[in-house]
Amino acid sequence: MKFFIVVLGLFLISGLFLDIPSQEPAASEKKRAASAAGRYRGPVIDAHNHPKRKDHHLQAFFEQAREANVEKVVVMTTPNEFRKHGNDMLRNSRSYPGAVALCTANFVGFIHRKNEERARREFEWMKADLTSGVCGGVGEVGLRHYDKTAKEGGSNRGQDVVLVDLNHPLVLEMLGLADGRGAPVVLHIEPVYSPAGIDNLSKVKNWYKRVCRRFPGAKLIAAHNGMMSPGDLEALFSSCGNLFADFKFMHNRGSITGFQDLHPMNGLDSGLFPQWRKMIGKYPGRFLFASDWKYGRRGSFEDYTGHIRAVREMLGVLPPAVQRKVLYENAKRVFSID
Ligand SMILES: [Zn+2]
Repeated sequence: MKFFIVVLGLFLISGLFLDIPSQEPAASEKKRAASAAGRYRGPVIDAHNHPKRKDHHLQAFFEQAREANVEKVVVMTTPNEFRKHGNDMLRNSRSYPGAVALCTANFVGFIHRKNEERARREFEWMKADLTSGVCGGVGEVGLRHYDKTAKEGGSNRGQDVVLVDLNHPLVLEMLGLADGRGAPVVLHIEPVYSPAGIDNLSKVKNWYKRVCRRFPGAKLIAAHNGMMSPGDLEALFSSCGNLFADFKFMHNRGSITGFQDLHPMNGLDSGLFPQWRKMIGKYPGRFLFASDWKYGRRGSFEDYTGHIRAVREMLGVLPPAVQRKVLYENAKRVFSID
């Protein structure tokens, strides 16, 4: 016992005279400071967003977007909104100069419900909107959407499931319309769902390869980096010159858990994973920042300005020209924003 007290005493005394290394900035701090220096501060275009559509939500949301120097926000209905909202997103967002609204893909939800007649009617509305030019693309087209909250271990919140045939005639007809107009289409297709042992990865990859060739004029955007690995996405990029990937920053534990089998780009420490850093650096013209933010929804969607700050920080590790592309230039080009 005495021996230990002596050793402890010597250790403490030595600490008084030694130059304690913890005075040096830690490696992670140095890294953060370096990335802060090269961080992109210019205007942003958010390529994928779902604010609630009441005027007070939209007003407050676009106020925050302005504060965060987000010049344009591409707003669209979620794969599940066919259940209640129709298409008032398009009507309501029109008076906001920061909004670029996509035509709704609510017809997909009615295919899922096997209500073909209603699906056709919704499709014709979408077609009329696209043709008249009130919206310049289609989204979010959720062809495979599972309950990701089940991965959190028995959450009772639950997400509604939407599953449709990737080759349903209306889906192909919609891609044909986009092809003819050079329009973007935002596709949400979860290739795997581990809680139910579902793995459609090769089927989904083959589908992308087929439709990108059949509809070369359409700009296909695989939402959330296609929810596949950099290697699988790269295989699609090399077959499809008209394929892009939007990506989001996972801002809380729930979203990271929900995406655990869907290849998120960051973990809880907020850093961009090295394999994605490399991939974005290799294909800087193909990635679009897309928050997938749901302002007005309960939970953690209040601070959009803070979210954009965190995104700029996460991407600060990329070369400045690449940051500008993924945060601004690519979306400007793909969504034909002047
Ligand atoms: Zn979305």
